[in-house]
Amino acid sequence: MKIICVARSYPLHAREMGAAPPERPIFFLKPSTAWLAGGELRYPSFTQRLEYETELVFRIAKTGNQIPPSEAETYLDAVTVGIDFTARDLQSELKAKGLPWEIAKAFDGSAWWGVWLPLRADWKDIPFRLYRQGTLLQEGYGRDLLFSLSDIVTAASQYFTLEAGDILFTGTPAGVGLVQREDELEAFFGEQSVGKVFVHV
Ligand code: MN
Repeated sequence: MKIICVARSYPLHAREMGAAPPERPIFFLKPSTAWLAGGELRYPSFTQRLEYETELVFRIAKTGNQIPPSEAETYLDAVTVGIDFTARDLQSELKAKGLPWEIAKAFDGSAWWGVWLPLRADWKDIPFRLYRQGTLLQEGYGRDLLFSLSDIVTAASQYFTLEAGDILFTGTPAGVGLVQREDELEAFFGEQSVGKVFVHV
């Protein structure tokens, strides 16, 4: 299983990162070991600036590459909300030096997602949200994505063969922020809680 992620896919988030919205989807990968199964996150020792990015996450249903846009959505079978945990200080430092920033994004526990829900036609208009101990941290809608879901799947499949069980993180809307030690984070798709992450010192 691999985890394919899209960067800067919401215009307002690209701007808050000081970047222009891209012309084509920007991809990066996380290894299967990045999966935070169980939702218990130990605050990593190598960062003082761990941030949450709340994202719509889709599950790849079947294997394929060079997928045409007209077939792209048939490669997805479930949706949920996830968190792309990012060591922002490390990422900024590496970016400034023009170095690859994988270690700031793909470390153990950096990818969490909630329970899978059947993919529904109106997913774009369902709000996805992250709360900390009941306080709203971040909210977005799939309709604000810069690229259609089909275009993202098509573009990714030009470079990476998609395999059943792969995970697609579609990027964060604006409003990323700091994770705090001892946080209890809860993600929602519409009114439904998809799960919680507990952050340990
Ligand atoms: Mn992200």
